[in-house]
This record gives sequence, structure tokens and C-alpha cells, in this order.
Amino acid sequence: MVLGQEKVSLLNLPTPLEFLKNISEELGIQMYIKRDDMTGLGMGGNKLRKLEYILKEAQNKGATMLITEGGVQTNHGRLTAAVAAKHNMRCAIVAIGDYPGELSANLLLDRLMGAEVIIKKDDGRPSLDQYKELVGDTIKKYEAQGEIVYYIPLGGSDDVGILGYYECAVELTKQAAAMGIGDARVISAVGSLGTYMGLYCGFHNEDSGLELTGVAISPFDDYKEHSIVELFDSVKEKYGMKISAGQKDFDIEKDYVRGGYNLPSKEVRDAVRLMAGKEAILLDPCYTGKCFAAIIDMVKEGKIKKGEKIIMIHTGGAPGLYTKHHRVEFEKELIDGVTILE
Ligand SMILES: *Cc1c(COP(=O)(O)O)cnc(C)c1O
Repeated sequence: MVLGQEKVSLLNLPTPLEFLKNISEELGIQMYIKRDDMTGLGMGGNKLRKLEYILKEAQNKGATMLITEGGVQTNHGRLTAAVAAKHNMRCAIVAIGDYPGELSANLLLDRLMGAEVIIKKDDGRPSLDQYKELVGDTIKKYEAQGEIVYYIPLGGSDDVGILGYYECAVELTKQAAAMGIGDARVISAVGSLGTYMGLYCGFHNEDSGLELTGVAISPFDDYKEHSIVELFDSVKEKYGMKISAGQKDFDIEKDYVRGGYNLPSKEVRDAVRLMAGKEAILLDPCYTGKCFAAIIDMVKEGKIKKGEKIIMIHTGGAPGLYTKHHRVEFEKELIDGVTILE
């Protein structure tokens, strides 16, 4: 419970905070990782913390079904499917995009856990309008079947979902203090903003000594600049937080997007391989690999100082390694180490 709000307990908390000895030596910093990928249900990931609070709200409203939206390979959709399965609810995931030609990665897991997936080709109109229309039609369809639908916005990043990362901020502050790194800088990937906002509010409203830097994994446009302030304001008002913040207070790196959302990138693949090869921790090509690639660049550029204490949040997403367009790129680089004997 945080800010007076109840949740449904879905996870085995706290998640571990680990020191990465080999990576620390490699980069010349003190690198720690918060294992929010180790969050049990449905292969884990950051969305489960948000869903603990969102599910409570859905139950309070008597919901029989969860409907959410995202990219075709949305991790958030997969974890919504997991929560719905475990709690005997129906689930539908709405995506605008192309069917990848195979049922793999998150899409496969969605279906294994019983979620229905609705994919519609991008028709070129603003994506917000397309999602709104398709979500509206989908909700109507299931309501006509008698379901009581609870709609979860993109990434679960609303003023309910952020509570999960507010709670994580409290948890991490305690863990870091116990390990003598209470003044470290926390770095996390930024997508739909909820993880960053929850951490930001938790650290500031609870007087944590931890600092926070976000790494945008998709273009941080005017719409996002506007949304982040709007989200903060709604959280502040809803829970009566004592802190204030505006656009300039949010420390988000915007130069490591590498082309766009979930596009293959050589530097990201190298970062994923470095972490896997040195620590046996599997990052993902869309979020955490991009975040770690940014950390590597920030060390090179002096934005992270030698010896600095960094805690990267491992927000999950490893099923994304099996996404066709990433897997084929990895295969080109790794197949040379496979010997096939007759
Ligand atoms: C959704 C997601 C993020 C980003 O979190 P937001 O709250 O959407 O900003 C980071 N990593 C992974 C693996 C995710 O699935």
C-alpha cells in the first residue's frame, strides 16, 4: 500500500538489487541492477507492479474483463493477459500494426495465456485516433457479450498504475540504503511514462536520496513533454502529494532513441550481448537493451562519471528477443559460433 491505496498482491517482493561486478569493471563505474524482470507471473516485467494497483481498481468496479492496447509485441499486453488468466478474467489486447507473419515472442505468450488479440493495420491517421476508435469498438463488442470491461491505457501508465513504481521507489530506497548506496543514480527506460513517473514521485515525495534519470526509447516529442506534466499534475491532485514539479524537473535523456520504437540497432544488440556475456542477465532489444546501450554511451561521453554508482532498473521484456525482426539480426551476428557437424 502506498499513498493510502490498496493493491492486489501478485508478486514476490522485494525484487533483488544486485551488484554487477564484471560490468562494473568493464565500464569503470559501480553498476547495480534492480531485478524487476524477476517478477514471477507470465515471464515478469515492470507492468506487473502497475497491474497490482490496476487490478484492485478493476475488482472494485466489478470487472470481468481487462482490455488494453499497445504495439503488436507489447509486454504490457502479455502481463495484462497473465493477470487476467490468474484471476479468472477475460482479456483482449488491441494493437495497431502488422501481424509479424508468425505467432512468436509476446504474441505467442498472449495466446498461450488465453488473451484475444486484435491487430489492425495502420491506416496512416494519427495513431491516437486509430487506437481510440479500435478500443471503443472492441469494448462495445465485449460489453454486448455481457462482460464488464475495465480498460487499461497504454502501458498501464495512468494515475493508478504509477503507484506500482511509487512503491518500487520506496522499496529501492530501503535496499540501496542497506547496501550503502543511498545516493546512487537510478536509470530506467522510458516508454509510456508510468515507470518514470512512479519512481519520480516516490523518490521526491518520500525524501529518498536516490536520483533518477530516464532514457527515452521512442521519440520524446511535444506530445510526450505535455503528457508527462499532465500525468504528474493528475497524480499530485489525486493523492494530495506535497511536492511540485514541471517539465524541466524531469531528467530524461532523449538522444539514445536509435531511430524509433522497437527498431533493430547494432549498438543495442552489442549492449544485450555484453550484459548476457558478462553477467548472464538477459536484456531485451526494445527497452532494457536500449537503456543499457545509453548507459555505455553516457560513460564514454562523461555524462556518467568514472566510479559513479548507477542502479539500472531491469524492467523485463526478454521475450522480445524472440521477435522475428530482432532474432534475424542477432542470428547474422551469432551464427558463426554454431558448428553443425554431419
Ligand atoms: C513498458 C516497458 C518499459 C517502459 O515503461 P513505461 O512505464 O511504459 O515507461 C520498460 N521496459 C520494458 C521491458 C517494458 O515493457
